[in-house]
Amino acid sequence: MAAEQTAITSGLPVSGRTRVVGVFGWPVAHSLSPSMHNAAFRHLGLDFIYVAFPVAPAHLPEALRGIRALDLVGVNLTIPHKEAALPHLDTLAPEVELIGAANTVHHEDGCLVGYNTDARGFTAALQEARFTAAGARGVLVGAGGAARAALWELARGGARAITLLNRTPSRAQALAEAVARQFPGVAVEVRPLRGPGRAQALAGADLLVNATPAGMAHEPPLDLPLEALPDSCLVCDLVYTPPETPLLRAARDRGLRTCDGLGMLVHQGALSFGIWTKQPAPVPVMRRALLETLAGTATGLRLTASRHLGDN
Ligand code: NAP
Repeated sequence: MAAEQTAITSGLPVSGRTRVVGVFGWPVAHSLSPSMHNAAFRHLGLDFIYVAFPVAPAHLPEALRGIRALDLVGVNLTIPHKEAALPHLDTLAPEVELIGAANTVHHEDGCLVGYNTDARGFTAALQEARFTAAGARGVLVGAGGAARAALWELARGGARAITLLNRTPSRAQALAEAVARQFPGVAVEVRPLRGPGRAQALAGADLLVNATPAGMAHEPPLDLPLEALPDSCLVCDLVYTPPETPLLRAARDRGLRTCDGLGMLVHQGALSFGIWTKQPAPVPVMRRALLETLAGTATGLRLTASRHLGDN
């Protein structure tokens, strides 16, 4: 039954030679990745299939061992497995060592290699919006997993200064200190999300990134004084349900350039696709599949009702 369902999803015949990739998450039924990856496999005529595996946290170690046992090509990891998986992988790519989280596993000759394509996906989305981190001043809202990947990427890309605005400043402080140790040339400071100093930080920003769930459907939007931002600032929201969040709409109304969360989502997927298949991913096909899935009312409603969206 499950194979029948996935065969219909991928649109490709499943044979004894079909290579399997997927995503481990808990919950995972809402994942947009099967539609994005299976559309790419179909487009390129690759004999691969992408399946969502609901893996409870207690079963993660055996599920990861199962990648070898079942000879899967690899998997994405989503909430809550991105950090917990690390001790069970054989090799970690340098960005995983830095960020402390992996979202992609590749099964290479019996070894499980962990990558973080969220981070490079974020940079690819910014590049698509013609933004370069080198010398830039960024304001990043949030201090969770997405903020951490974005912060390391901005620091790695040579940002001059980054202000973290977070509801719980102590959480952001630990992150800021870790990045400042690794990248002494980057000035990282922390300010409370609702407190003095945020307008001043926004006034000097070349980039504003929302890395919190605020603004997701049914979630109140961020309340930020966007009028303080310079006219040249790029406003980026990592939330992608809806693709145009209240923050992005307000930024657009204010005449600012914007970058939506689908950019990072599609690029992290495209990078994982490249690792598994050794082929360049058809990014426009993957983006179209995401948009079509989001437009599907049933899926869209399920997505918007969930507060605990994974990102693969
Ligand atoms: P997370 O680890 O749970 O962190 C959430 C962060 O948001 C925390 O810093 C939290 O503040 C803050 N926060 C939560 N609710 C808030 C609210 N109502 N107002 C202000 N701050 C709030 O989550 P995550 O994995 O970083 O994900 C954050 C968002 O990014 C999610 O919407 C996720 O879907 C999105 N995301 C998108 C992509 C993509 O590819 N586009 C990739 C990854 C994540 P405290 O520290 O005070 O709790």
